[in-house]
Amino acid sequence: MTTRPLYGAIEAGGTKVVCAAGYGPADIPVDCRAVIPTTAPGPTLAAVAEFFERVRSKHGELAGIGIAAFGPVDLDTGSPTWGRILATPKPGWSDFSMVAPLQRFGCPIAIDTDVNAAALAEARLGAGAGLGSLAYVTVGTGIGGGVVVADRTIKGLLHPEMGHIRVERDPRDTGFAGVCPFHGDCLEGLASGPAVMARWHARAENLPHSHPGREILGGYLGQLAATIALMLSCERIVFGGGVVSGGALLPFIRRSASRRLAGYLPVDSRAGGFDRYITAPGLGDSAGTTGALLLAMRA
Ligand code: ZN
Repeated sequence: MTTRPLYGAIEAGGTKVVCAAGYGPADIPVDCRAVIPTTAPGPTLAAVAEFFERVRSKHGELAGIGIAAFGPVDLDTGSPTWGRILATPKPGWSDFSMVAPLQRFGCPIAIDTDVNAAALAEARLGAGAGLGSLAYVTVGTGIGGGVVVADRTIKGLLHPEMGHIRVERDPRDTGFAGVCPFHGDCLEGLASGPAVMARWHARAENLPHSHPGREILGGYLGQLAATIALMLSCERIVFGGGVVSGGALLPFIRRSASRRLAGYLPVDSRAGGFDRYITAPGLGDSAGTTGALLLAMRA
């Protein structure tokens, strides 16, 4: 008798850690999901390990574990600090190893950023299914982006940190210093959830219809989309996260990107126009967890 391999998936975010185990993205037993609040790193990962112990006792050994982690994280498998969270403002998490508490399961472990994992899932099964390249951008507490090219996520010196590119200021938005602790008015400093709150004292979804904020935010994010298109030639760009979905920003992002590209790339003829080229996630909130499972399956 052969048993099918069972894989573990962990999506570690700033407020919660989503855990799952399954035989494939569409084959996750009902008792193999858990959501654990993100607190101090030790207790958080202890709860994650407990979940997988329960899974193991019911369903058998894990064949691999995939971790989709918030960054910055060391993804260099040749580095002595592989799998560790790098310098982060999150209390206690700097230098914490995401993989060490899971090595007791004795299976291969793969780790990537949450957005790279989400990009992988969207490229395989979601908004970019059938395409070879895709970028995934999430706009929430921060702005992060992941990229898949030829079925591989991009990493190297670190991993993409496209939320921190500099963007051209909207003339209606001068005088705001931005909220990024490193760069002030980088994209994240201007268009993340905290940036929206800092200068307009509201969440993006609560801005009045006549408020210029949506167009300003969409304008900045469209600059990122145009930059991705020019630098990476991705065949699809997915925008997720609460600021984009709640603020109904996609039409503004498309318009801004289209204006920036000014007809230079074949978006209409090769990508079906900006409505298809810049799109919402096909997998909704589950892209990160699905991506983590895909990472486990290739670990
Ligand atoms: Zn920044």
